[in-house]
Formats: sequence, structure tokens, C-alpha cells
Amino acid sequence: METPFAEPIYITRPLIPELGNINAKMKEVFDSKWLTNNGAQHEKLQNELRKYLKLNHLVLFNNGTLALLLGLKALQLSGEVITTPFTFPATIQALDWNGLIPVFCDIDKDTLNIDANQIEALITEKTSAILAVHVYGNPCNVNQINKIAEKNNLKVIYDAAHAFGTEVDGIPIGEFGDMTMFSFHATKLFNTIEGGALTFKDASLEKNLNLLKNFGIAGPEEVVLSGINAKLNEVQAGIGLEVLKLVEEEKRKREKIKGLYEKRFAEIEGIKIATKFSGSSNSYQYFVIEVDQENYGKSRDWLHEELKKYNIFTRKYFYPLCSDFQWYQDVKPSNDPNLSQARKSVQRVLALPFYGELQLESVEKICNIIKILKRCKINYTEHNEIIYKHG
Ligand SMILES: *Cc1c(COP(=O)(O)O)cnc(C)c1O
Repeated sequence: METPFAEPIYITRPLIPELGNINAKMKEVFDSKWLTNNGAQHEKLQNELRKYLKLNHLVLFNNGTLALLLGLKALQLSGEVITTPFTFPATIQALDWNGLIPVFCDIDKDTLNIDANQIEALITEKTSAILAVHVYGNPCNVNQINKIAEKNNLKVIYDAAHAFGTEVDGIPIGEFGDMTMFSFHATKLFNTIEGGALTFKDASLEKNLNLLKNFGIAGPEEVVLSGINAKLNEVQAGIGLEVLKLVEEEKRKREKIKGLYEKRFAEIEGIKIATKFSGSSNSYQYFVIEVDQENYGKSRDWLHEELKKYNIFTRKYFYPLCSDFQWYQDVKPSNDPNLSQARKSVQRVLALPFYGELQLESVEKICNIIKILKRCKINYTEHNEIIYKHG
């Protein structure tokens, strides 16, 4: 028997520096009287992130979505972009805002990333790029994607919102493709509350990206292109500098939690771990399982609902598929048979609580509950409370 948690447990908690450290940082910011537009904190954070991510060409933005949107614009893409339906809406919406047409490619059943084997069949005369996502920090098949892009003269952009600090065989994730986006949203491993960055191969893009994020203003009396406002301010950058100091310890804590989950789920038939990484370092962004209804005996949706009764709030992530958004129904039919794997996976994935402060006893309890729920037959009392009968 397990009782519900006294307090709700969510899938993540933002990494928050000590208030004393934030206060000291804020004093620095406000004393400087320089609150935004490439202030001292912004420059410091940019440098620290270049070092941490081992990527020389990095520009900061006020969120990951605008970073991606402006990155696509800077690359001057046109026509169609081959991408994945299994992602957060922002990936695809960044295409929309650039007038680019998403062409959805099916995903790989193990990594849940775009299936590189199916990309070439989707290339047309209108294709200008591949926009892939390192889902949960699982690296895409970067070498194969690179080959396809070279052969067909396409740009490659990665959404690495989940892959902060990920490396493939020792190579930083941002080294692959023409451009990579990172998100520093509060729910991401590293956060600036809201924020993001682009890293890129072609050093000459830096000037344009800095113009694009600041209205295209090149000088006091010079506006050279139609940009927008996407600047990271000094308060966000200052907090980011404090959060960055906490990332390594947070990763160590998450590593322990991940190890315990993996050990416990090895005992539960029908639960597959979606966040197993091979040949790469883990970004410890999410811990995601796939519920195999046949072997677990219950559906993902059922488990998601039942866990709420124990005060455990998991997330169907990602759900729904982006290709099912109502405004794409003219682009590709929603019953496109080529998306069969994505359709399966989207019904199975469930992100579980995963953050450094999560106690190992809580992880044990969550696993016990998932184990009990597999075995139980369910009855309800007259007050709609559950009675579990163990069979
Ligand atoms: C969080 C996220 C984004 C958006 O980043 P923001 O910083 O919130 O704008 C884009 N893509 C993926 C995969 C994400 O998880």
C-alpha cells in the first residue's frame, strides 16, 4: 500500500539560486543603472556559456523561440523545411513565423528523434533545410543528417532546448549542423527564467543575429534591417550567472535519481525508459518512460490520471503531435501513414518527476505506486475514492 504524497509532485522544479546571491547580483545590476542592451551581465553570461558549452559562436536571446525564429531568418531559408512532428509547438511555430512550410518526417522508435532514414524521400525542389530536435537531450543521428544535408545542399538547424551540455563522443552538441538553439526557460536544466541562445558555424552570422534581436539598429542613426526585440535583459543574465554555478551539482543529483528510476523500472514489465542515451553525455533534462499497454496492462493515459490521485503530476510530453495542429490540416493530412511511429510514441510517453530536490525516497515511492498500479484491479467507494485490490 502507498498513500498519496502530502504535497503535489510535479515533473520539474526550476533551479533557483539562494536569495542572498540573487540579492547581491541584483545590487550589482541596479547600481550599474544599465538594465538591458548588452550590459555587463549579458556579456559575462555570453562568455561563460561559450566556455561551458565549448562553442565559440553564441548569441543570447530573451527566449529560445525567438532565438530559433531569428536564426531561421538569418539563414535566409525559403520553401519547405523537413522537421519532426514530435516536438514542442515552438519548433514548428518558428517555421510558421518565417513563412516556411513544415514537412513532417516520422521519428525513430528508440530515440524519438527525426528518423534520418526517412528524410531523403521527403526532399523536393522546394526544400531548403532540415530542422531536427534532440528530444529529451537524446542526440539526433547527427552524422547521417549531415551527410544528407551536404549531398542535397540543405541547411541543418537543431532545436537543442533539451540538450544543454550534451556531447556526442566528446563533441559538444552545438558543433553539429549550421545552427543550434538552446532554451533557458525556467523548466530547462539551466535557466535565466526566460532566455535562449543560438550557436552557429558561420562566424559572419553573429553580426546579423545581433541586429535582428535589436530592431536592426546598427548605430544611433542607422537601421539596416527589419528586426525585432529579442534581447536578454540584465536581471535575467545576472540570475543566469548564478544558476550556471548550480548546474553541475544539479546534474549529479539528477544522475542518482535517474539511476534509481532505471533500477526500479527494470523490475516492471511494460515500462520502457525513453531517456537512455548511448554514445553521448546526458543532459539530465527529463526522465521519460514509455508505457507499453500490452505488457504493462494499463494505458499511458490511465496511468497519467491515476498518478494524480497520489498527488503525482506527470506530463504527456510531447502531446499532441504538431502535425495534428488544426492549422496544418491543409499542409499534410493528419492521418498521414508515414507518421506511424510518431503516432504510436505520442500515445506512450510520460515524463516523470525529475529534479535535484526530489528525494530518493520519493522516487522509490513513485516507482512503488507505478508497480502497484500495474497489478491492481480498481473499485471505487461511494465518494469516488479508489480502493485497490491486489491480484
Ligand atoms: C522549451 C522548448 C522550446 C522553447 O523555448 P522557450 O525558451 O520556452 O521559448 C522549444 N523547443 C523545445 C523542444 C522546448 O522544449
